[in-house]
Amino acid sequence: MTHNELVKHIDTRAIVWFRRDLRLDDNPAWEAAVTTHREIVPLFVLDSRLMAAAGVFRRRQILADLAALDARCRSIGGRLHLVEGDATTVVPAMAARLGATAVHVNLDVSPLARQRDRVVADRLAERDVRWDAHWGGLVHPPGAVRTAKGSLSQVFTPFWKTWRTVPHGLPHADPVPSQLAEVLDVGDCVALPAADAPPPFAGGEHGAHERLRAIDATVDDYPATRDLPAIDGTTQLSAALRFGTLSPRRVISVLGTHTQGREAVARQLAWRDWYAHITWQHPTIASNALRPQYDAIAWNQDDAGFDAWCQGRTGFPIVDAGMRQLAHTGWMHNRVRMIAASFLVKDLLIDWRRGERWFRTLLVDGEVSQNAGNWQWVAGTGPDAAPYFRIFNPTSQGKKFDPDGAYITRWVPELAHIDTRFVHEPWLAGSLFGAADYPAPIVDHAAARARCLDAYSIVRDIAR
Ligand SMILES: Cc1cc2nc3c(=O)[nH]c(=O)nc-3n(C[C@H](O)[C@H](O)[C@H](O)COP(=O)(O)OP(=O)(O)OC[C@H]3O[C@@H](n4cnc5c(N)ncnc54)[C@H](O)[C@@H]3O)c2cc1C
Repeated sequence: MTHNELVKHIDTRAIVWFRRDLRLDDNPAWEAAVTTHREIVPLFVLDSRLMAAAGVFRRRQILADLAALDARCRSIGGRLHLVEGDATTVVPAMAARLGATAVHVNLDVSPLARQRDRVVADRLAERDVRWDAHWGGLVHPPGAVRTAKGSLSQVFTPFWKTWRTVPHGLPHADPVPSQLAEVLDVGDCVALPAADAPPPFAGGEHGAHERLRAIDATVDDYPATRDLPAIDGTTQLSAALRFGTLSPRRVISVLGTHTQGREAVARQLAWRDWYAHITWQHPTIASNALRPQYDAIAWNQDDAGFDAWCQGRTGFPIVDAGMRQLAHTGWMHNRVRMIAASFLVKDLLIDWRRGERWFRTLLVDGEVSQNAGNWQWVAGTGPDAAPYFRIFNPTSQGKKFDPDGAYITRWVPELAHIDTRFVHEPWLAGSLFGAADYPAPIVDHAAARARCLDAYSIVRDIAR
């Protein structure tokens, strides 16, 4: 008996339930299903509550990614079955109706996904359907990178040092399912809703792989350009990783780690793994400070300040440029995310959770683990976070990372004609600036810094 004949005897029909792994390449759930089952039903559950919560940019991105995945499934004889509803009901019902013996998934660290998966797995078990869970969205799954004592390092550098030494295996190419299993079209599904506008990034695995190939030519400049928001100097792969149109193992296998630039990208993927592992350990990461004493900070309930920040009208050009880039494109450069987030938390003394929610609504790559992990880093409330006394000065950050104001003027047109000497401090331009409709700074940075240090120092020593 050939290998293929053998595997077709192993099991019968399986569902591959796609969630944040919208690809066939290096997809462990897909590979396991097609190599152990005779018939495969690809499924995605469109939950209207989740789609509404996804925000405009992620909605556009996921619709494009789903269309691309459907096209791939059709090219091998099946289709992506889109079913509307709550996954805890839809998945067990589909499994029962189709007589599936297993449901294959790649796991997700988000607390809501874990809760949902527990319910689905229990309901499947009641029907004798196997829940076959894999990890496909991280280089290393939670638990794979440990300290000598066997725990998760709460400091990034030791995590990174171990992370680099743990073998992760090579990514697996799509195992040509038509030779192994039949990909079915069992009908009975809804049409993909139309998107109101194109996605922020080219959809599907093809788009992500094109981007990866393009990056291969420029990645060696990454250490020099990654902090300059005016330049397209980062990979812009975060949305592809967020929706899983690209596997992080594939990124490492294509780029390698043999130059400083390539190693630097791998290090960022280690940060991504680290925040995912921290979230697995602390599912309340978006609601509780991981250093709990900082939950006692007397945050400022400054709604006018919060609105000005959201709209990009704080009067601090680099902050406003970032917030407008976010609102217009669903993406913001990492350096500017740090500056804008620091401004909200430290200059306005507004609770980091409000900013985290705003970012998560708008970011095309927004997800709990990465967003809350980074917000807690900026706020100084998480593990290995920026120390509370490190308070970015938005003006000097702007001068350092956008020296000629090219990024600022792209997003803040009111400053397009200001003398470059004043682009970071338009309030100094006086009459030279004229009547341009750009706000005066909403805080005095030096006074705000002192207020922040006071608020943090009051709670810093509680329960240390
Ligand atoms: C306040 C704040 C909120 C953030 N929210 C998110 C979020 O919701 N989702 C998200 O994916 N990233 C988030 N980040 C991290 C980072 O800003 C983005 O991953 C990065 O800007 C994406 O652009 P890129 O793909 O060009 O990154 P590159 O610099 O090219 O990095 C390559 C990949 O490494 C990962 N990475 C890079 N920086 C980080 C980081 N600081 N933490 C974790 N992973 C990283 C990303 O997956 C990224 O695609 C946030 C950062 C801050 C400061």
